[in-house]
Amino acid sequence: MAGEPQADCLFCKIVAGDVPATVVRETETMVAFRDINPQAPTHVLVIPKAHYPDVVSLAAAEPALAADVLVVAGEVADQEKIVPSETGPGTGYRIVFNTGAGAGQTVFHAHAHVLGGRGLNWPPG
Ligand code: AMP
Ligand code: ZN
Repeated sequence: MAGEPQADCLFCKIVAGDVPATVVRETETMVAFRDINPQAPTHVLVIPKAHYPDVVSLAAAEPALAADVLVVAGEVADQEKIVPSETGPGTGYRIVFNTGAGAGQTVFHAHAHVLGGRGLNWPPG
């Protein structure tokens, strides 16, 4: 059934606590944890606890959960002090959803990358 845990999914295992992760924030619907191979000083993944293969299928099936991903991404950015500010240390951040293998998606459980803490080039590679 849509949204149900998948036995062969790494991120479902993290949600279940069967694979360890450095969790930085958790809500009723979401888990945010540090990427094991960080590409920036802050590199956090925000995932819905429900299993959907990518963010677009999540949004189509459960739009409120897709919105929650962004809400939690913003809360993580706040926690990590990467929110753009003229007075604080934050310089801004990027929220990335790789969608499809050709775009670099390797884990087929919807997730947002929250990247910040250094200058970020545009366009991305
Ligand atoms: P993507 O390539 O967009 O599908 O992103 C998957 C991300 O998951 C990559 O940035 C990986 O470094 C990260 N990753 C893979 N295994 C783990 C893990 N066990 N804990 C935390 N992050 C992971
Ligand atoms: Zn999953």
